[in-house]
Amino acid sequence: MLQRPGPAPGAGTVPRTPSLRPVPRPTADEPVVRPDGGSVDRPAAGSLGRASDGAVPRVGVVAGRADLATAERAAARFLHALGIPTTSESLRDTPGRMARAYAELFSPRPFDLTTFPNDEGYDELVLARSIPLRSVCEHHLLPLVGTAHVGYLPGGRILGLSKLARVVEFFARRPQVQERLTRQIADWLQGQLEPAGVGVVVEAEHTCMTLRGVLATGSRTVTSTLLGSLREDARARAEFMMLAGLSR
Ligand SMILES: [Zn+2]
Repeated sequence: MLQRPGPAPGAGTVPRTPSLRPVPRPTADEPVVRPDGGSVDRPAAGSLGRASDGAVPRVGVVAGRADLATAERAAARFLHALGIPTTSESLRDTPGRMARAYAELFSPRPFDLTTFPNDEGYDELVLARSIPLRSVCEHHLLPLVGTAHVGYLPGGRILGLSKLARVVEFFARRPQVQERLTRQIADWLQGQLEPAGVGVVVEAEHTCMTLRGVLATGSRTVTSTLLGSLREDARARAEFMMLAGLSR
C-alpha cells in the first residue's frame, strides 16, 4: 500500500480526503506493468517503507490492470453514442488511441526513491520550482496542466533532487482533483523524509473550465499545502513563497 502518513503536524489548508481510493497495488503475483506494456520488477512487499530503511525503495504502481481491448470497444461505443462514427480511415483507430492515451495518463512511471543522509546538517530550504504538471481532472476526465513548486526543510534525510519531480508525476498520473494532488505530494514527502517542513504549491489550468463550461480562458487555480515549520513559522513560510516566486 501507498504509505499514508498519519496526521501531519499543522495539518494544512486542504481537507483530508478519507474517501480517497488507494491506487491498487500489485499483489505478490503481479508484476508492475509499465505504460508501454513492458513489465518491471514488482516492488517488494512494503517497499514504500520509509526512505531511511536503508535499501532504495522502488516506487511504482499501476492503476489496476488496464484492459485495453475492453477500453477500446467502450471508446468506440462512446464516440458512436455522441454521433461520431469511427468508420472513416482517419477515425478507425481513434478508439484504440483513446484507450492507450488514457492508460498512459493513469500509469505513473516507477522510480527509485533515492535519499541521502543529511550529513552536512543542511537546514535551509530545498525547493524545486516550476515542475511541469500534467494530470486529468476526475470530474470531466479532461487535462489539467500547470506547474508545481515543491520544497522542504530537511531533517535527517535529503531526497535526490529529480525525485521531487517524480513524486509530482507519481500523484498526477491518475484521475485527480487539484486540492488532493497538492495534499498528497506534501503528505508523501512528510511521511518519507520526516523533514522539518514541507511546502507544495500547485498552479494549473483546468481545461474543463477553459475549453468548455464557464470558458474561463487563462484562469489558473492555485492550491497550497504547508506542513510543519513552513506552516507555523511565518519567516520560513515567507521564504518559501518568495523562492517559489509567489510572494506578492
Ligand atoms: Zn473538471
